[in-house]
Amino acid sequence: MPFTLIGNDACQPTLPTPISNPYWVAFSPSAAELVKIDIDSDGLPTNHDWLEVLAGNQLSVGKLEFSQPIATAYSGHQFGVWAGQLGDGRAILLGDMNELELQLKGAGKTHYSRMGDGRAVLRSSIREFLCSEAMHALGIPTSRALAVVGSEQAVLRETMETAAVCSRIAPSFIRIGHFEHFASLQSNERLKELADLMITNFYPTCSTNQDPYLSLFKAISARNAKLVARWQSVGFCHGVLNSDNISALGLTIDYGPFGFLDHFQIDHICNHSDQGGRYAYHRQPQVMHWNMACLASAMLPLLELEHSSEESQTLLRAALEEFPLIYAKEWQHLFRSKLGLQLEQEEDIQLIERLLQAMHDSKIDYTNFFRNLGNLSKNAVLTEIQQRNDFIDRENIDQWFTDYINRLKSEALDDQARKEMMNRINPKYILRNHLAQAAIEKAQQGDFSEVATLLEIMTKPFDEQVSFESYSRPPPVDMEHIAVSCSS
Ligand code: AMP
Ligand code: MG
Repeated sequence: MPFTLIGNDACQPTLPTPISNPYWVAFSPSAAELVKIDIDSDGLPTNHDWLEVLAGNQLSVGKLEFSQPIATAYSGHQFGVWAGQLGDGRAILLGDMNELELQLKGAGKTHYSRMGDGRAVLRSSIREFLCSEAMHALGIPTSRALAVVGSEQAVLRETMETAAVCSRIAPSFIRIGHFEHFASLQSNERLKELADLMITNFYPTCSTNQDPYLSLFKAISARNAKLVARWQSVGFCHGVLNSDNISALGLTIDYGPFGFLDHFQIDHICNHSDQGGRYAYHRQPQVMHWNMACLASAMLPLLELEHSSEESQTLLRAALEEFPLIYAKEWQHLFRSKLGLQLEQEEDIQLIERLLQAMHDSKIDYTNFFRNLGNLSKNAVLTEIQQRNDFIDRENIDQWFTDYINRLKSEALDDQARKEMMNRINPKYILRNHLAQAAIEKAQQGDFSEVATLLEIMTKPFDEQVSFESYSRPPPVDMEHIAVSCSS
């Protein structure tokens, strides 16, 4: 959808700044298909001009022309504090392809760059590329990544690095921060335009509701509640859940210092710069809820078009209270499925929570535990269960396995069918930090083969992929705590 809010308070026409001698670092054929880019047998665009376009050096390819690239304005709360105007400081929206927006991240300075250089480094671009595609393959709503284009242009971060451009695709990159932006400018007209644009393009059923803006709020909030439940289910930590990084479409966007849990640690902090753990794994649901409160307060003036101020607040407050309920329902559904349970029994929640606590206490690899659990038979004898040996408190886990096996007996599926179902929700492969790091270190030496290998593996996360077995293993001890910061 084109970003149609044109004007100084909403966006600025912005041309990408060229980089010299660009080259392909990574390319996603499946993302290319979404925007109908033809690719050759090497999995790269048939038309070589795409390299220049995705580097930000050229605005046309064949008959296609990106006639008005822009950078958009948004504001937001960062680490719980109002940060004022932010905006696309290094992302340039080239335009639309097949009703999807194509954005270049790291394509040079924009009106909103503030003190930044408008660039992104190779390592963070590879991480964003791989994780976008990995999340999509895990079935989690996300912006997609088309390519990473590298260059030798130097960029200063903690050390000298090189610049890269990651091209991203989404139906829209509109964020909660866009709503907050117009609310902070007290521009009700703009707020209304933005909300109407969201309803027309993405939430059409809200228009038939007698309270379209309340209904829009509920819809955005519900999508994000379900999104965060999905993150929890695969052990994904976003790292920077600031309101400017939260999509108004309920997509995972703005990959930075994210991380997947290796061993299960409920309060795991993936972002080295997040000293207080505001965005720790177990806090993600409540922080997303908090972000929805930011959205609610930004949308208040829209409700006030139809209701008294007091009524509007009451309505939004009640709508906000739905978030934890929607989240819990989705979380319970996902975790029941992870355990191979189709019936809904009340005791299941306790069963799940007891397991997670035991996994936390014994630092059990999150992904592998659930994946292997699919191999368990309803008729298993405790002493035959290998997985219990990994737990410190044996008595506790034995009780858990006993209860779990009993619970499985009330399910209709046989062992094989349950395993197949579980293998469709419990991935074998996730983008572990140490894997991404190894690919990045090779790429920094000019070898992009490991990036391609990871793309191949992570786009089939539920398949056994026997030849890649080693990629499912937990990190070696010395690579367990790779620090990933906001620097990008
Ligand atoms: P992030 O933490 O990546 O979501 O970024 C927060 C804000 O800082 C956004 O407005 C970004 O566009 C901006 N930003 C981050 N890095 C840079 C950079 N190198 N140059 C310009 N703006 C940046
Ligand atoms: Mg951001």
